[in-house]
Amino acid sequence: APGGKQDFIRQIVRDDLASGRHQAIRTRFPPEPNGYLHIGHAKAICLDFGIAEEFGGLCNLRFDDTNPAKEDPEFVRAIRDDVQWLGFDWAELRHASDYFEVYVLAAEKLIRQGDAFVCDLSAEQVREYRGTLTEPGRNSPYRDRSPDENLDLFRRMRAGEFADGSRTLRAKIDMASGNINLRDPALYRIKHMPHPIAGAGWCIYPMYDFAHALGDAIEGITHSLCTLEFEDHRPLYDWCVDKVDLAGTPELLAPLVAKGLPNVAAKPRQIEFSRLNINYTVMSKRKLVALVGDGLVDGWDDPRMPTLQGLRRRGYTPGALRLLVDRVGISKQNSMIDFSVLEGALRDDLDAAAPRRMAVIDPLRFVLANLPEAHEESLTFSNHPKDESFGTREVPFSRELWIEREDFAEVPPKGWKRLVPGGEVRLRGAGIARVDELVKDDAGNVIELRGWLDPESRPGMEGANRKVKGTIHWVSAKHAVEAEVRLYDRLFSVADPDDESEGKSYRDHLNPESKRSVRGYVEPAAAEAAPEQSFQFERLGYFVADRRDHRSDAPVFNRSVSLRDTWAV
Ligand code: ATP
Ligand code: MG
Ligand code: MG
Repeated sequence: APGGKQDFIRQIVRDDLASGRHQAIRTRFPPEPNGYLHIGHAKAICLDFGIAEEFGGLCNLRFDDTNPAKEDPEFVRAIRDDVQWLGFDWAELRHASDYFEVYVLAAEKLIRQGDAFVCDLSAEQVREYRGTLTEPGRNSPYRDRSPDENLDLFRRMRAGEFADGSRTLRAKIDMASGNINLRDPALYRIKHMPHPIAGAGWCIYPMYDFAHALGDAIEGITHSLCTLEFEDHRPLYDWCVDKVDLAGTPELLAPLVAKGLPNVAAKPRQIEFSRLNINYTVMSKRKLVALVGDGLVDGWDDPRMPTLQGLRRRGYTPGALRLLVDRVGISKQNSMIDFSVLEGALRDDLDAAAPRRMAVIDPLRFVLANLPEAHEESLTFSNHPKDESFGTREVPFSRELWIEREDFAEVPPKGWKRLVPGGEVRLRGAGIARVDELVKDDAGNVIELRGWLDPESRPGMEGANRKVKGTIHWVSAKHAVEAEVRLYDRLFSVADPDDESEGKSYRDHLNPESKRSVRGYVEPAAAEAAPEQSFQFERLGYFVADRRDHRSDAPVFNRSVSLRDTWAV
């Protein structure tokens, strides 16, 4: 319900609906299809789609595909996939390139009004004329061209008569403005390159601020939410919307009507919020590309990557990411979120959502010598200690078990509660066992424990109530399924891998322990998992059946997160 989350953006939306300024709201999520989405984008997605959902409005997915050089249909596919995986659906899927003809008509309108001109300065000269923060810019010598001349030149730009970079269409605003974005910014540039969707007919492309503002207006976006770095662009955004005035010039929309695209022109309002930043990670597209390109990780969906594809493969759930975004909140304050907040959200989500299983990742054989060789039974375990609706499962038990090597100590440290020679421990759900004998290899390493299961301590028996210090997990050796277990940890070993002081780069801060693969054993009910199914492996952490590699006869599990934060200082 709209009463739920409180933040300044939701308050604006609430007020706009209450005052009747808008009857219904419309938002959009506008990714550039030039890379995979990362955890930062999850914040924008949850906000754009979430607000529309909460207030009974609509949210579009709009690909901002105005730069043909950087786009790839693979990114488009992955982005659609990620948004849906997070649990959202768009009212309409649009591309900025759907609007190319409208943008041209809008540009021509600006030219006729004397609000835009064709400039022949080179990129370098434009920079020179622009001035600095403390110094006003200078007018381009081409600024006073007549509307007729500008219209002719712009049409010839579009017709392909001029070389890349030789001319631009610029807004005529104010070269002395304190806001550099208003110093006659470019609206169109020449680039002789076919567009992947709009086709080979294009050699001029609109600039982001122009295309974005008009895209919002075309779609009837009421609240255009974006990150703080666009705050200084807002005056230009408003300038584009006001000067073009789509609402008052419906003929500009004719090309869309012809295409059968419904449209509503409105006056959108841009509102900025702070980006999500998380320590121990990098989010710059350039660095993510390099990590993949240089083979420092195993692809875009490497479970250590902050991409949504990577997090998903790691075992992050949509619920955990939405929880994270809610916990972080929406404000205008830039802040750095501790990685443990991300992990905490996952633990909290999975604690409630993940069934329990038993698995042993560093196996040591424990033979209960008093049981007959052929002893075999099936024990009933509840799947979730706090939620009966998860039901129960059968766990096979037999004379030979795998237990964790670290649950036994020949010479125990102080306070040790697990197995020691001659000591007792409770085997989870199976009874109380004691170690009587150690089997060692030639080097003196313990390779097997032999012991005794107290027959009077089986679950349900009186003797099971006896006090024993520790409880350990196990799997039946005869029934266990061998599994590859990938133990992931943070990709970077320092909080700020972007720190480049002392001549270092993020590459110098990679955590060499971030991936370790071991062979372990899982109970049959874990092996049967479907890819992407999450479990709590008791006492070990949360694990997910790998989305790509897991098979029931050759299980592969990724550690999503340990049970407790081991990084805390
Ligand atoms: P680039 O700088 O390469 O364009 P980008 O991160 O801006 O990358 P976009 O595809 O343009 O990527 O982003 C789509 C939307 O996601 C934008 O509205 C942007 O503001 C938002 N966004 C991007 N990064 C974050 C972040 N870290 N936190 C919150 N929102 C973000
Ligand atoms: Mg961008
Ligand atoms: Mg992007």
